[in-house]
Amino acid sequence: MPYRAPLADFRFLLSEVVGFAQVAATERFAEATPETVEAVLGEAGKLCEEVLAPLQRSGDIHPARLENGVVRTSPGFAEGYRAIVEGGWVSIAASPDHGGMGLPMTVTTAVNEMMASACLSLQLNPLMTQGQIEALEHHASDDLKALYLPKLVSGEWCGTMNLTEPQAGSDVGALRTRAEPLGDGSYAVTGQKIYISWADNDFTGNVCHLVLARLPDGAAGTKGISLFLVPKFLPDAEGNPGKRNSLSVVSLEHKMGLHGSPTAVMEYDGAVGWLVGAPHRGMAAMFTMMNNARLGVGVQGIGVAEAATQAALGYALERRQGGAGTIIEHADVRRMLAVMKAETFSARAIALACAVAIDMARATGSAEWQARAALLTPIAKAYGTAMGVEVADLGVQVHGGTGFIEATGAAQYLRDVRVTAIYEGTNGIQAMDLVGRKMMDGGEAAFRLLQEVQDAAEVARHGLPELAGDVWDAAEALREATEALVAQGATDRNAGAVPYLRAFARVLGAHYHLTAAAADPARLALARVAIRRLLPEHAALLAQVREGAEGLFALSAEDLAA
Ligand SMILES: Cc1cc2nc3c(=O)[nH]c(=O)nc-3n(C[C@H](O)[C@H](O)[C@H](O)COP(=O)(O)OP(=O)(O)OC[C@H]3O[C@@H](n4cnc5c(N)ncnc54)[C@H](O)[C@@H]3O)c2cc1C
Repeated sequence: MPYRAPLADFRFLLSEVVGFAQVAATERFAEATPETVEAVLGEAGKLCEEVLAPLQRSGDIHPARLENGVVRTSPGFAEGYRAIVEGGWVSIAASPDHGGMGLPMTVTTAVNEMMASACLSLQLNPLMTQGQIEALEHHASDDLKALYLPKLVSGEWCGTMNLTEPQAGSDVGALRTRAEPLGDGSYAVTGQKIYISWADNDFTGNVCHLVLARLPDGAAGTKGISLFLVPKFLPDAEGNPGKRNSLSVVSLEHKMGLHGSPTAVMEYDGAVGWLVGAPHRGMAAMFTMMNNARLGVGVQGIGVAEAATQAALGYALERRQGGAGTIIEHADVRRMLAVMKAETFSARAIALACAVAIDMARATGSAEWQARAALLTPIAKAYGTAMGVEVADLGVQVHGGTGFIEATGAAQYLRDVRVTAIYEGTNGIQAMDLVGRKMMDGGEAAFRLLQEVQDAAEVARHGLPELAGDVWDAAEALREATEALVAQGATDRNAGAVPYLRAFARVLGAHYHLTAAAADPARLALARVAIRRLLPEHAALLAQVREGAEGLFALSAEDLAA
C-alpha cells in the first residue's frame, strides 16, 4: 500500500485538539490561516507521496558511499532533494528576512513528519539544515547571517551538526576539538568528529558544518566550549563557494539502517571557521539547534510509525490465513493495528502540542509558554521515537514471516527508525533532562499542564464519564508522583526518569485522545483503545519512579555479570 499523507488527521488535530487557532491568532503568525495551512500541507503531502516515498527503498539498497573522498548519494536522492528545494520545503519556518516563509513550527512539524514517513534518510538532510538556520538566526553575527542564511534557507547549501567525538558522546563536555584564532576574525579548527549525518553529498553547492570546539582559553567541560561555522568551501568575495577548506570525510559508517543518510567520520585539519555566538557559550548556541532537532527527531519517529501502520494495515487487509476472511479479522491482529494507530495519534498530538507551545513562546514571549515548550520537548523526542520503534516492530509482527523479508519494507522501517531513539541525545538523556532541568521550577510547569488535563477531563465527564474518569485519575497519580519526584535526590530521579517520561506521555496521549473523542464521536473507538488499554501502564511505570535507585544499585556490577 503506497504511503498516503494523513492530512485529515493533521487538520483535525490542529483545529480540535492542540489549539492551533491561538497560534494563528497572534500577530506574528497571522498569515497561517486555515486555508494557507491546508494548502501548504496538501502540497507537501503530494511531494511526499509522489516523489519522496518512491526513494525509500533506493536509499536502503544503495547506501551512500565514499569515492575518493567524495560522498555519492543513493540513486534518485539528488532529484528528490531538488524537488524539496524547488517546493521551498527546506525551511518554511525560517524568517522572511532570509527568504523563508516565516510559518509556524507547528506547520513545519506536520511537513517534517510527512517527509520522514516518505523517506527518512533523505529527510534528515533538510532537518539538520533547519536546525542550523535557527541557530544562526539566533546567534550568528550579521555578516554570517547575510552570507549563509539565504543559501541555507533556499537549500542551495545544507547544514550539519558536529558534536560527537569518540570519547565525547552523551558527555559533550569531553570533546577535544580545538579552535585557534587566526587574527583576522576567523579560527583554525582541528580535531576529529564521528557519526556526522549528511557530512557531505553530491547535490548541494556547499556543506556548512556547525562544529563544537574549545578555544585555547576554554575551560574544561561544557562551559569552555564554543561553536564555529566551518564550510566545506570557503565563500569568495561574492559569496560563492570558493577554495576548498581543510576538512575531509575520512569514512562512512556501515549501519543497521538509515543507509541513504551518509554518517561520517570527519577530520578538521586547521579548517577555517567563524565563531557563532559568544566565546565559551557554544553549548547555549548549539542548544538552539538541538532543541529544534529534538522535536524534529521525535517527529521522525512519528513519521515512521505512520508509514509502518499504513503498510501493516494494507497487508492485513489482503493476507488470508486461519479463517474465512483476511488476518485483520483476528483479534490479536486487530489489537496490534489499533495500538499502532492509537500510539501514532498520541505521539503526533504531543509533538504538535510542543510545536504550538514553541510558536506561542515565540509570538508572545510568555515565560509560561516557554516553560511548556521546554517541558514537552524531551517528551516529544523520546516518546515519538520510542513509538516509532515499537510501532515499526508491531508492523513487522503484523506481516508475519513476510515482515522479516526485506522486500516488503516493514523491516526497513524498524531498522531505519531505531537510531532516532539514540541520536540527538539518547532517550535516557532526554528523560534525565525532563526530571532534572525541566523540574528545576519545582515541577510548576508540569503541575500547570496536569491541571489542564484534569480540567479538560472534568468537562468531558458529562459525555464520556468512564474515559474521562480514567484520564483524571491517571493525571492525579502522575501529579502525586511528580511531587515525590521533585523531592528525590538526583540518582533516584534518574533511575526513574525513563518510566516517568513514558508515564507522562501516556497521560498526555490519553488526554489528547479524550479531547478528540469529545470533539468527534467517530474518534471514540480509538480513544477507548488508548485510555482503556494503553493508559493503565502508567501505574506500573509510576511504581518504578517511586522505587528510586536503591534497588538497582543493590544489584552490583558483579551480580549482573554472574
Ligand atoms: C546514525 C547516527 C547519526 C548520528 N548523527 C550525528 C550528527 O549528525 N552529529 C553528531 O554530533 N552526532 C551524531 N550522532 C551521534 C549521537 O548523537 C550519539 O551516538 C549519541 O548522542 C550517544 O552518544 P554515544 O554513542 O557516545 O553513546 P554514550 O554516550 O556512550 O551512551 C551509551 C549509553 O549510556 C547512556 N548514558 C551515557 N551517559 C549517561 C549519563 N550521564 N546518565 C545516564 N545514562 C547515560 C546512554 O543513554 C546510552 O544508553 C549520530 C549517531 C548515529 C548512530
